[in-house]
This record gives sequence, C-alpha cells and structure tokens, in this order.
Amino acid sequence: MNWQPILEHIQTATGSAFKTESIHAVAGGDINSAFRLQSKDTAYFVKLNQINRLDMFVAEAEGLSELAAAKTLRIPSPIVFEKSTEHAFLVLEYIEFDTSGKNSGRQLGQQLALLHQIPQAYFGWHRNNTIGSTPQENTRCEDWPEFWRTQRLQLQLTLAAGNGYGSRLQTTGAKLCESIAVFFDGYRPRPALLHGDLWGGNTATDKAGNPVIFDPACYYGDKEADIAMTELFGGFGRDFYAAYQEISPLDPGYATRKTLYNLYHILNHLNLFGGGYLRQAEDMITSLLSEIR
Ligand code: ADP
Repeated sequence: MNWQPILEHIQTATGSAFKTESIHAVAGGDINSAFRLQSKDTAYFVKLNQINRLDMFVAEAEGLSELAAAKTLRIPSPIVFEKSTEHAFLVLEYIEFDTSGKNSGRQLGQQLALLHQIPQAYFGWHRNNTIGSTPQENTRCEDWPEFWRTQRLQLQLTLAAGNGYGSRLQTTGAKLCESIAVFFDGYRPRPALLHGDLWGGNTATDKAGNPVIFDPACYYGDKEADIAMTELFGGFGRDFYAAYQEISPLDPGYATRKTLYNLYHILNHLNLFGGGYLRQAEDMITSLLSEIR
C-alpha cells in the first residue's frame, strides 16, 4: 500500500507537514478499511475503499460538515477526500474515544434534540448518498409520507425483488405503501437534519466526556426516523431518551411509526446480508398492516 499520495493530500489540505510515525488498522467498520495515521503530535482517521466509491466518501464528508456546522454535537472534521491510483480515501480528524465506559447518553440526547430542532426547508437533501453501501435517494420532496414511501420503502422493496425476495414480502410491502398515509393521521413532521444511520456503533464518547457521532447517511427528515434507529440495535440508555424528550417530546404515534421507520433499515439489511432479515421484515409489515383498519 502506497501512502504517499494520501500524505500529500493531507499536507496540501492542512497546509502543514505531516511526518508519519505509525500507521495502524482500525477495526469496527462495515464497508471500508480504516487506519490511524499518527505523527508526533497529530493523528488522522483514514477510510479506504475502491476508486469507484469516491462519491460515497464525498457524500459522507458533506454530511459530516453539515452536522458539524449545526454546532450541537461533536463530529469528526473532514480533512480531505480524493482518489489515488489504488484507492478512494476519506481523511478525518482522529478522535480519541473514551474506553472506560463513561456514559454520555444524557448529553447525546440533549445535543441530538437541539440538532433536530433546527428547521430545514424540505424533505430530502441536496444530493443522494448511501446507507451502508446501498444507494440512498434524497430527491427534494415537500410531502414526508410520500418521501418515505417512494424513496425509502419502495426503493428497498425493488432492490429486494431484484435480490429474489419476491411473493409475500412484495405483496404485503405494496399494501403497506398504499396505506402509508394512515400512519401520519394528525401528525405533520417538520424537516430536520438527520444523522440517518444512528445505531450505537456510530456513536462514542471522547476523552472529555462529550458524545461523538460519525459515519452518517444525512438527509432532512422526520426526527422520529433517527430516534427509531437508536432503538433498533440497542446501545442507547434511558438517560438518552429522557434528555431528548425534555427538549423535543415525541408524539404518541411514534410508538407505531418507529416500526415503519425501522422497516427501512431491516429491508436494507436484507438486501445487504440476506438471511433472517426476510422474516423480520415480513413480521414488521404484518404488524404495521394490523394497525390499518
Ligand atoms: P465504516 O464506514 O466502514 O462503517 P466507521 O466510520 O463506522 O467505518 O468507522 C469504523 C470504526 O472506527 C468506528 O466503529 C469507530 O470505532 C472508529 N472511528 C470512526 N471514526 C473515527 C474517528 N474520526 N476517529 C477515531 N476513530 C474513529
């Protein structure tokens, strides 16, 4: 692996020399390989992927920049993205995480609620991005249920059909999509900047005790979609929800809609990993359809 082009881009972007003392692989990512580049006094976090995935890194960097600009949460600053002859790469500020088990759930709840309170102009985003490695469409839309139906659920259902998950998933999924308005009766979400992939693995606590969120799949959407995902794979304690709701209370209909929102991620997991996610997606759709009378 030739690090020289990456080091040169870091130096150009930061305007200062970077003399590498060590390069270590960082474990934990799902789709990219990741490294810590260390000089005497500075460290960078570098993600690598195939050259044709540069656009994914551009979208990630734009999401990180927009989250950081909101100034409510600590976000790793993007330094530079580019491609060399071998890889596409994204270089971020390296953040030293606390490993002593310090819990920043309360601050995370507060700071996420403040992020979600900032008004945005429309549903969607200025560009498409990815969720995991799956394309995620963010075409501007004024109608949130329509956005969720077409750009989130139908898109994943179409991918699932192409992956061979036909019959029951498709018929019940189509029925759910037809009836989506039912879940928004009396509820008008306002567009908020979402992290978009907010599971426990994309959060941490820095050495000063501040929560950090990273690896986003940003767009403007219903804040409930972010909160729903925090419940999907666990990792967010009671303090988080209490603090969030003190600032930004959740509508009672969230209890049902969270399944509608998490269905998107389960369909995405089905498309990425297959297996048991088919049954889980079907059960979620059945449960949602049982709400329609
Ligand atoms: P992927 O895009 O492959 O899923 P992540 O962005 O989730 O990769 O990063 C993989 C792991 O690296 C994370 O789980 C986290 O522990 C660590 N990490 C991510 N960003 C940083 C950063 N800026 N500084 C230090 N460690 C990081």
